[in-house]
Amino acid sequence: MDLRYAERDETFRRELRAWLAEAAPAHGTPPPRDDWAARRDYDLGWQRKLFDAGYAGINWPKEYGGLGASLTEELVYYEEIARARAPYIGMNFVGIRHGGPTIIAEGTDAQKALHLPRILRGEEVWCQGFSEPTAGSDLAALRTSAVRDGDDYVVNGQKIWTSFAQSADYCEMLVRTDTASKHGGISWVIMPMNLDGIEIRPLPTLLGETDFSEMFLENVRIPVENLVGEENDGWRVTNVTLRFERGTAWAADIIELQQTLRELAALAQRITRDDAAAWEDRALRRELGHLSAEVESLWAMVKLQVSELAKTGVPGLGGSVIKLAFTELNQRIYEFGTQLLGRAGLSREDVADLPAQRIVDKYLNTLSLTIAAGSSQIQRNILSERVLGLPKERR
Ligand SMILES: Cc1cc2nc3c(=O)[nH]c(=O)nc-3n(C[C@H](O)[C@H](O)[C@H](O)COP(=O)(O)OP(=O)(O)OC[C@H]3O[C@@H](n4cnc5c(N)ncnc54)[C@H](O)[C@@H]3O)c2cc1C
Repeated sequence: MDLRYAERDETFRRELRAWLAEAAPAHGTPPPRDDWAARRDYDLGWQRKLFDAGYAGINWPKEYGGLGASLTEELVYYEEIARARAPYIGMNFVGIRHGGPTIIAEGTDAQKALHLPRILRGEEVWCQGFSEPTAGSDLAALRTSAVRDGDDYVVNGQKIWTSFAQSADYCEMLVRTDTASKHGGISWVIMPMNLDGIEIRPLPTLLGETDFSEMFLENVRIPVENLVGEENDGWRVTNVTLRFERGTAWAADIIELQQTLRELAALAQRITRDDAAAWEDRALRRELGHLSAEVESLWAMVKLQVSELAKTGVPGLGGSVIKLAFTELNQRIYEFGTQLLGRAGLSREDVADLPAQRIVDKYLNTLSLTIAAGSSQIQRNILSERVLGLPKERR
């Protein structure tokens, strides 16, 4: 394992840092979370700036317009984005991280020509229609049916927890094209979101926001040419996307946690408890120290994962360890933040110059991340069965 950056990485860092120093502040502050039109403009506008500066598609191959960055350059990229407090991926997430990479690996020439440049330039928003009311952790239990009729699939069913559905132009969707085989009857299709028969009902979250929705699909006609990969081979296609996942999925968030801890330390020096700064409390400083050590070890784990992958070319199970450890530590850190705020931590608005809004909203948001992208229980199952070799759970 080599955790040092090479001169080439540092050159990349210097150039990116110089560009971000101007571009990030010039992009302005994010719009209110429920102003969907403004959020779309903001996120796509930033993607366009990345594209114009040559930083779009950090891990996409060069032949498809990406940067084709090395793994270490990718880590540098996340470090610098966080350092500059630049906009992150926002609603470009599905297109850049899943949809585009799947089309690169499995799409037809026509699908590549239509979608890849537009995703990179920030002209297309994608959402992901995988989960269903009875298919979450057990995704292959999905039931939304697609029946071939001439040159179309006629799709009926319901999707749930579809992030950014109300802003998306396309949906990467899993449908059932064969009921005889659970995993072998799934297909991966591109659904244009302007087709007839799609009803989107926003689902308010604990935060009172509507980041995700239910999607009801009634006789939606999706052209067969929108199939990615072969019919009934969608489960394999879904797993192909994961090849693009290089253990860096949570890198930017982990770096943000390092910054958050520094902010909480500064806040502890401003907050008074029992006539003294909260910072004077040794127990509080010890807890902050422990949290900080955990974040550092998590970052070392990301580098270890990346360095192993660079050597072996095979992504290990480190991704599950990092996902589990990050999302649970994230919760503890923001919970610590709300406790530090004291009574102000009961508010979702800033109180007496204390940043209650950001910390409390972040805390509430951390609750969802132990569920999204494979819940903590599922990650523990994976680790216990595949790393520790414990008996498999009964299916
Ligand atoms: C913020 C957020 C954004 C999301 N965005 C999208 C999106 O854009 N598109 C999309 O398709 N989906 C999305 N999802 C859905 C997400 O993928 C599912 O919530 C997740 O897969 C869990 O499925 P579920 O909610 O149906 O819970 P279930 O699978 O019903 O699980 C319920 C509980 O049982 C536990 N459990 C289930 N199976 C086991 C087991 N075998 N062993 C032990 N415990 C088990 C789970 O850990 C959980 O605690 C999003 C979710 C969140 C929170």
